[in-house]
Amino acid sequence: MDTTSPLDAGTPPPEGFHLSDPAEWEYFNEGANNILFRYVGDHPYFKRFLLRLRKALPGAPTTVQLHNHLNNRFAPLLGNYIMRCDLIELDQNFVPELNKALVNEDVGDYDWSGRPINEQRARRLLEEGEHYGLLVEDMSCGNYLYRDEEEEGIEDPGEMWRDMATIEFKPKWLTQSPNAPANWTLCRTCAVRLMSGKGHRPEEQVPEYCPLDLCSGQQERIEQAVYALLNGNNAVMIADPTPDEDDDAEDKMMIDGDAAVETSESISHELAKTLEGSLVTLLTHFFRKSTIIPLLAELQNRFGTRGVFTSATLALMSETDQLPTEEEMARMAMMIGNSEPGENDIWTAMTLRDCSLFLKVWVRKQRGRGMEARIECKVGDLDLKTGDGGRAVYWRDVERRLRKGGWYVKKDVGRNCRTGQGMA
Ligand SMILES: [Zn+2]
Repeated sequence: MDTTSPLDAGTPPPEGFHLSDPAEWEYFNEGANNILFRYVGDHPYFKRFLLRLRKALPGAPTTVQLHNHLNNRFAPLLGNYIMRCDLIELDQNFVPELNKALVNEDVGDYDWSGRPINEQRARRLLEEGEHYGLLVEDMSCGNYLYRDEEEEGIEDPGEMWRDMATIEFKPKWLTQSPNAPANWTLCRTCAVRLMSGKGHRPEEQVPEYCPLDLCSGQQERIEQAVYALLNGNNAVMIADPTPDEDDDAEDKMMIDGDAAVETSESISHELAKTLEGSLVTLLTHFFRKSTIIPLLAELQNRFGTRGVFTSATLALMSETDQLPTEEEMARMAMMIGNSEPGENDIWTAMTLRDCSLFLKVWVRKQRGRGMEARIECKVGDLDLKTGDGGRAVYWRDVERRLRKGGWYVKKDVGRNCRTGQGMA
């Protein structure tokens, strides 16, 4: 990379800087709308970030639009919790060359965290008309494995902070849908899971994640939610350098009789095992103290108080149970003066219900006192929900089906989301 800035991790590239060398970025993983790349070049500044580039999708917002939306809409609401996201300019050939590499390279079947890569998604290439990318904070774990301890002057490898685990999940609907009937027993998230048949069978006895548990403020319910999240599919990644079947780590520490020789690797392995065993306690404690869940709940509520239906729509539906068309609803909204923007912003509410929470767990060994941990928490996946009618129709249709099928008031499903108690 051609840059005049010194190799200091805190120094951003000079103004007017373009990313020019696609060989410095390797495929990391991807979502429906974008692909993430990890930096493998020499400049320490970029190592804290992943490069997010958008795929070629008709009608998708540009990177500059998305960046503006994040800064104007969500940064003021979420403060320090928002995942850092900087705009970076790209050389003209940068994206086309990455596309060439994507076509020729086999990205494999799994991404960095062991999640299968959706083949249909993986075949979509980057938008070549785009001249900007986003540098997003890297919330993946295990970067400590690539650090050079000697270079950083770390004398005691136990003292080093290790980014050892990442937990990623969608908190979903942290307050009940305003469209649920008054006598609801299931929350929006649990009702949808049940309706779509994606839940476990009751006999499996595996807890399901209920956002109202996480949001309850009660120790026991928070712990229940954390336990369910940790048992979910691929929610946790622990960066343990030692494979499970390799039990040599313990032996290495006993070399020379009882004088324990602790290598950095053996310490990491030991910390990883301790961390694994204490994650539920650690995260429960975190969620009891942190303001992130109450904040998200408050925002979801503030922007989505009215739900996806106006009362007039509901009245109309109760007679026919047919979903009115977009035009009918727009007409109705105009008629009853229901169209004020601002706080009742369903697009913002829905984005906040669909965001992801990233928890990065840093651990280190305290001299003679076991493990010390701290948790970094960021909100990501705040994708711009463009105001296309299709999505609004979809949301309304889900609510209609939930109400029509009585999913909010199901009694024989083993739980009551109001109390967090089983109802068997
Ligand atoms: Zn629930």
